[in-house]
Amino acid sequence: MKLICANFKMNLRNSDIKNYLNVIKDKVKENVVFFPTSLYLKDFKENGYTIGSQNISFKDMGSVTGDISVLQLKDIGIDYTIIGHSERREFFNDNLYVDKKINLALNNDVKVILCIGENLEEFENKKTLDILKKELDDAIENNLDVINNDNLIIAYEPIWAIGTGKIPTSDILNKTNLEIKNYLNSKYDLSLRVLYGGSVNLENIEFLEKINSIDGYLIGGASLNPEKFLSLINKVN
Ligand code: PEP
Repeated sequence: MKLICANFKMNLRNSDIKNYLNVIKDKVKENVVFFPTSLYLKDFKENGYTIGSQNISFKDMGSVTGDISVLQLKDIGIDYTIIGHSERREFFNDNLYVDKKINLALNNDVKVILCIGENLEEFENKKTLDILKKELDDAIENNLDVINNDNLIIAYEPIWAIGTGKIPTSDILNKTNLEIKNYLNSKYDLSLRVLYGGSVNLENIEFLEKINSIDGYLIGGASLNPEKFLSLINKVN
């Protein structure tokens, strides 16, 4: 079964979460992980769902105002965390912290969804593979002793596809996924799952499902409406 990650980002309020949980009750399989805003993680956990945080602090505990420790998140039952989302890299300089955060997560038995991806200019200048290799090296090189084929999952998310309605062609997406997998295999002897993220929706899911190299999806906007999200995940094998 493919892994499906629902990233709510900073969306949905208390009453929306209550409604969401009512709508999806008994309709979601174990391959779906919810990444609501941290405030609502407990609501999903208490209703029996697998949960992940959208981020963790770069420190384990202490004086970091506004951050949340992986240990605190682990206490409320997260199994996953997203690290290196392009919005965190852009707004919070997370390029600097990706390797530390991965180390903290994996040392505390929290699986990592590592987001990598090129922006539009890099895509147009055919720099995609260079960017992806650098983001992979930054994340992996210092963490080889804690990474295995199950605890690190790559989410390939072209930045120009996030929230724009645009997605890569099937040839480009397949080629890029295989390049990521081959690189990880030849350089680090790792066989990691590679998810696709960026404007996945009800209109393009059948197209994406034909691409064999996709091991799952990271879904932002299309996970916010529970009825539509259910229809979407029902189309994933
Ligand atoms: C994301 O931000 O991880 C994402 C995939 O968003 P969207 O599905 O809205 O493009």
